[in-house]
Amino acid sequence: MLIKPSINILVVDDDIAVMQKCRELLLNEGHWVRTAESVEEALDIIQRQPADADLILLSLEFAMDGSLTLIETLQKAMREPLIIGISTDCDEEAFEAIEAGAYDCIRRNFTDAGFWVKMNRALETYRLRRQLGVLKRERQAALTKSKVGHDENLMAILNSLTDGLIVTDWQANIVLFNKVAGRLFDLKEGKVLGKPVSECIASDELLSFLIRAVKADSSLATLMAGEEPVIRVGDKTLQTHVDPVMSEAGTVIGAVALCHDVTTVAAMDKLRSDFLSMVSHELKAPLSSLLMQISVVNDGLAGELTEKQSNLLSKAKEKTKGMITLVNDLLDYRRIQEGKSIQKIESLDLGEILERTIELMRPSAQDKHVTMTSKIVDGLPAFNGDRGGIQAIFINLISNAIKYTPTGGSVNVSLEEAGKDIRFKIVDNGMGISPDDLDRIFERFYRIKTEQTRSIAGSGLGLSIVKGIVDAHNGTVHVESKVGKGTTFIVSLPTQE
Ligand code: ADP
Repeated sequence: MLIKPSINILVVDDDIAVMQKCRELLLNEGHWVRTAESVEEALDIIQRQPADADLILLSLEFAMDGSLTLIETLQKAMREPLIIGISTDCDEEAFEAIEAGAYDCIRRNFTDAGFWVKMNRALETYRLRRQLGVLKRERQAALTKSKVGHDENLMAILNSLTDGLIVTDWQANIVLFNKVAGRLFDLKEGKVLGKPVSECIASDELLSFLIRAVKADSSLATLMAGEEPVIRVGDKTLQTHVDPVMSEAGTVIGAVALCHDVTTVAAMDKLRSDFLSMVSHELKAPLSSLLMQISVVNDGLAGELTEKQSNLLSKAKEKTKGMITLVNDLLDYRRIQEGKSIQKIESLDLGEILERTIELMRPSAQDKHVTMTSKIVDGLPAFNGDRGGIQAIFINLISNAIKYTPTGGSVNVSLEEAGKDIRFKIVDNGMGISPDDLDRIFERFYRIKTEQTRSIAGSGLGLSIVKGIVDAHNGTVHVESKVGKGTTFIVSLPTQE
């Protein structure tokens, strides 16, 4: 039975013995072989019947004026050439040939085994290249086939979307966009179709998402699924959603971006946030003076108080403190949201800042009968950071430890050097945090709602502020906790860039 040879090989050599030997070996393996005794003859075959030369075995002895010209000529004549040189020594001329694009080189006095080692590798490479070519063409066809532009109904539907839509092929060339996207990104049909997105879209962030999408394997695609970058294009704010376009066979054939105009919502959001910030500022001073006056009266400096009056004033004092913390949290949070978590970098003595913070917080611990101990290692290296930010980290973590540790408990604070980091550790034996909540406590406004925490005042912003500041200093924050046993927070701040 005649098996159709899968690969067509052209042997080009004027050494008849070598040519015949190659022919014989290849025919025995069922390949289709043609021979040529000169480069001219070979070029003639390639030009007339390019399908007869999937792979060329070429004598490098022909390359009188250098293999380069010869191989380049052959390369130009074929679409996907795989050329293997035949050379006496496989040295200088072989290197030159490989540099010019040849795949490999076989010695003229080859043994059968030696011939097949090199040939099998070349044949396998050829097959892989061919498969890759088919796959590429399939991908191209898949999206060009859906040149939706030709389907008027579908195009009319896409043009009635209120969101901008851009579709690219797998090489990130634009293949389709609707009217809204055209307006948003100033895209003109005649000019951009078929062009790389990088030449047409003036948003680095959207570009990077589109390029990541077309390069996505399925795991990256899953990772990207939840991301919705908000980008600015001119005076517009757009919330975008980018996804890879997958073929039925599961290969990525392109990317699709949907852009939702959130300019008005963003403006409203800013207005709301400006208002909140303004109110917080305005409340800060009167609340502090209220706290001072309540304290003066409660301490008996304005006259004797009955026990009942004193109890009522103590409660009023706690509530006022809670309000001051909330106002401070709101101001800090706003600052971090605006990317201002670092205001001024200076060389800091973290030990000194921590000591002061502990002294500031000690009265709260004493009020609650929580024992606070500290161990600050002497001679810590200076840390380049933002004083206000570092203070906010210490205050938030210490005040949480005191707040969420019942009366009679203890809080232990330490500061030490750990490799290239300065490590702040705070351990309490308070109420602890469940594993489910541990994943969420750094989210803004997240508060754990249990019987125990119900009466404790807070904004749910403290830990998100801590995380924001630690991130801005390239540090890490780590938490371990067991319900009913206590919680440990570890903040590591790198002392070197
Ligand atoms: P809050 O203003 O509510 O304290 P945070 O962002 O500082 O907000 O903390 C989020 C939640 O994490 C708190 O509501 C609290 O339930 C929990 N939490 C934080 N620190 C501790 C701690 N040391 N022990 C137990 N729970 C804590």
